[in-house]
Amino acid sequence: MNLPDELKPTPRVLMGPGPSDVHPRVLRAMATPLLGHLDPQFLALMDSTKRMLQEILRTRNELTFAVSGTGSAGMETVLVNLLEAGDEALVCVNGVFGTRMCDIVERCGARLVRVDAEWGKPIDPAQVEKALKSCSPKLVAIVHAETSTGVWQPLVEIGNLARERGALFVVDAVTSLGGVDVRVDDWGIDALYSGTQKCLSAPPGLSPVTFSPRAVEVIEKRKTKVQSWYLDMGMVRKYWGAERAYHHTAPISSVYALYEALRIILEEGLEARFERHRRAHELLRAGLEAMGIEFVVESAYRLPQLNAVRVPAGMEDGPTRKRLLEEFNLEIGGGLGVFAGKVWRIGLMGHGAEPNHVNMLLAALNMLRSG
Ligand SMILES: *Cc1c(COP(=O)(O)O)cnc(C)c1O
Repeated sequence: MNLPDELKPTPRVLMGPGPSDVHPRVLRAMATPLLGHLDPQFLALMDSTKRMLQEILRTRNELTFAVSGTGSAGMETVLVNLLEAGDEALVCVNGVFGTRMCDIVERCGARLVRVDAEWGKPIDPAQVEKALKSCSPKLVAIVHAETSTGVWQPLVEIGNLARERGALFVVDAVTSLGGVDVRVDDWGIDALYSGTQKCLSAPPGLSPVTFSPRAVEVIEKRKTKVQSWYLDMGMVRKYWGAERAYHHTAPISSVYALYEALRIILEEGLEARFERHRRAHELLRAGLEAMGIEFVVESAYRLPQLNAVRVPAGMEDGPTRKRLLEEFNLEIGGGLGVFAGKVWRIGLMGHGAEPNHVNMLLAALNMLRSG
């Protein structure tokens, strides 16, 4: 056969909703020679990865590790392990990812109770409180950083409401972790999942998760088998824990990448990293507002790492993003769902949350606007 072309895509600057640009050190880590997945050197790497995750998640949860799979695999891991058929689950929905959680809850055979907010607005704790009066869910689930809308959801009040009702508190931190503060223990979070390709700035492929002792107890007391063999914590934790029992082959190179990405985060320091995200966001905001471009979310609930803005009058959504990609090698995201065609999603995630990225995009938009 004729061989297809050599793999050499034109490099892009990734300023969409993920994947984000990764540090060159992370790319180099991925080219490290493979080890066996039970090699003592690799097991030591897994232990260090777990300890670094605990630090970044600000948790002492023993059951903290990275699921083999992207953020959605983490979402599914948390829900399929905590829910059994006939359980009740309350899910907060104000965008794509809350909606996805509802789908998984229903696939678990659980009874779904939804609390909705308009896209672009945070969930109102009063609505959760009201819903909790007429149900007694096993868990309350919510998205911390809604990547489809740019909403930064306050968690503490809703977490307290869940706890008062004896429900587990489940949080999607796929886009929040590494960009804004996530405090698992202080905020009473019982189960949380994230993803590597947003603000952790590693390639997609792993999903950090953590379960509180309370959540572990719920898993241990299940009456039925977890419907997913691959994501069954009862088995997976025996590989990440002391037993080191083979379950599935760890994606070695992805673990290398996450390991190096976490080291980079801890070298920088969490506070410094969050501050860098805030500064990049402020620079972008000033530049966009000077062009008359408006944000979707009111300022109190805006994520620094995911900037949802209205497509300005006089510029077309698809053609503009196409030209950004083709002429400037710059990727930004379009709108999803009700925001399709109306909103752009500009990511300033992890390694990419820095002034050069912002200035490149602002310059490119200005050039495209003036023809
Ligand atoms: C990206 C994302 C997911 C899904 O992660 P994948 O890596 O695409 O599977 C889930 N929740 C949120 C908030 C996300 O941003």
